[in-house]
Amino acid sequence: MAVRLKFQTTDSQEIELAKRYWAMDEEGTYLERVADLLPFREINQASMVAKFVRQICTAYDENQICPKCDGQIQIGGRAEAKKSLQHSYLPCEDCQKLQQEEKQKQEAKERAELEAKLAPHITRAREMTISYSELPDDAVLILQAIHALVGPRLTQGAFSLGDCEGLTPQGTGGLIDRLYKQDILQDDPSAAEPGTYYLQEGALWFSKASARYFLPPDPDLGGSQAALNTLLDRKLSNSVALTDLWLDHAVTDVMCYLEYQCDVHNHVLDAADIEKIKATVRHGMRKYSVAQMWFIMWKVTRDAAALASRSYYNSETAAATIPNKIRKQLEIADQGTEPRNEWTRPEPHITGSLGMEFYSHFGLDEYSRGTEALAMFDRLDGKDSSDVDLHALAAAFMKTTLEKERALFALGAFAEMVRAGLTTEDALKEAIDRNPGLFQ
Ligand SMILES: [Zn+2]
Repeated sequence: MAVRLKFQTTDSQEIELAKRYWAMDEEGTYLERVADLLPFREINQASMVAKFVRQICTAYDENQICPKCDGQIQIGGRAEAKKSLQHSYLPCEDCQKLQQEEKQKQEAKERAELEAKLAPHITRAREMTISYSELPDDAVLILQAIHALVGPRLTQGAFSLGDCEGLTPQGTGGLIDRLYKQDILQDDPSAAEPGTYYLQEGALWFSKASARYFLPPDPDLGGSQAALNTLLDRKLSNSVALTDLWLDHAVTDVMCYLEYQCDVHNHVLDAADIEKIKATVRHGMRKYSVAQMWFIMWKVTRDAAALASRSYYNSETAAATIPNKIRKQLEIADQGTEPRNEWTRPEPHITGSLGMEFYSHFGLDEYSRGTEALAMFDRLDGKDSSDVDLHALAAAFMKTTLEKERALFALGAFAEMVRAGLTTEDALKEAIDRNPGLFQ
């Protein structure tokens, strides 16, 4: 018999039943059918026999060897016995138990190491303070946008990246990371899900997706509503920081649209091309509006799709023309043919809470031209963009347009700027800047 039995009973009838159940010839064929062993006492179903036999004896298959200790493997029923000698895939029960204990010990050791590393990190995060009044304007505007999404959890609690998905048209847009790297936002291990923090080669790491972030309290005002109000009521005036953040936001808003158009036309852009496009778009945003850029993105992706169907192009070479096509469109625009500015925001493409902060503070949206936005930020600093004598400028404006018999056009251009909300002086400067042909 290739099955060794270890009895837990001394009842001779039960021992006899177990022996008959497991009895086999040299080829491993069982000598009796299970049904032939019945009835046995109250058991009269074949399906119950194996279960009963398991209760009264343990069976080891002499044909199955444990890969760890070379011992025999315990089996629970006829189908599990092997007809020829082989190593079992799984170790025997004793070895599995040992492995399990070993694994638990190792895990406990790793947990202890992790906790030892985490403890000072938690203490540092809890003791950290940050002076709200010294935070730069761009960070304050981002914090206001985060507050619009997570409310008081910004300072009293913690929030995740997932909570901030509505920050920009492209999720968090890297803004949480940006504040974290600037040591403004902190991570809170005690609020994170288990498994978020781990050790790798002795260093502490965490998964951003499940980490929890918070803004440390102000050293004087704490994390109270009053402290938060100083952030929410901040008068923003740093033109350099705000211009940079506006350009970042505008680029995200344009790239989101480009991504959508690329999906529509099955264009796949490589990482290097995306970086090139971002740089071009960022430069273009100093002059044009997001909506004008959307129009350009719409046009170039459609043109590239038309190219892809030509015999000497494929989808890859056609997509690779997109960065240059964008530059070309901007050159055409710079030479005087302004792109359309009434392109509509697609339904699933949100402005995001940062964009809404720009709108509520400065009235900026996708239709705001870069020139206007940048001039507006410049004015926040109290800087006058030029020392031009306004009286002389106004006189020259009227004289030149009268001489060229373009008075109505010039007044129309001026009125358009006033209607867009510019002051008399700025409207005059813009009307001149935008129509250089009129004054040459
Ligand atoms: Zn073993």
